[in-house]
Amino acid sequence: MIRDIVIYGEPVLRTKGKQIEDIDDEVRALAADMLETMYEANGVGLAAQQVGQALQLTVIDVSDAESRPSRMWLAGEEVDPTEHMPLVLINPEVQFGDELELGTEGCLSFPEITAEITRPSRVKVAAQDLKGERIEFEAEGLLSRAVQHEVDHLNGILFIDRMSSAAKVSLAGRLKRLATESKKA
Ligand code: ZN
Repeated sequence: MIRDIVIYGEPVLRTKGKQIEDIDDEVRALAADMLETMYEANGVGLAAQQVGQALQLTVIDVSDAESRPSRMWLAGEEVDPTEHMPLVLINPEVQFGDELELGTEGCLSFPEITAEITRPSRVKVAAQDLKGERIEFEAEGLLSRAVQHEVDHLNGILFIDRMSSAAKVSLAGRLKRLATESKKA
């Protein structure tokens, strides 16, 4: 089932997600709906907050983003990321590499807004999958960026928080309009 995507201005986007203790039918249904909703919106990632649920759950699929490559390692071995998509990450934890990288980001909760955001280029991720099994991987490129963007959502952090102050100033009017419209809706 496709769910409505929450637009900037709704308090749930600022709410830290609760840890998921039981991966039950409800969580499985939510993850399936989030994947469907993300594909329908042509996104590469979606966090539970973006469908109105403050939970530590996010879905990611970078396999269609051919112009923006990703790299992925499982147990130190480089793998083809497309063979491991989609990712459903429950209670994810990330460790960041030292090198930083600038890259373009958008967000399904901020229609038509993109910005250049600096983030660590490499991440190490540990999470549970839908079966409750522990998954660990390292990532670079778009996958790394997507994981960081989504894990931020799970902690109530939005990409506008990571924009340069100049970018934020230039977007101020549009952000205000978005927030006003989402309150009316
Ligand atoms: Zn987002």
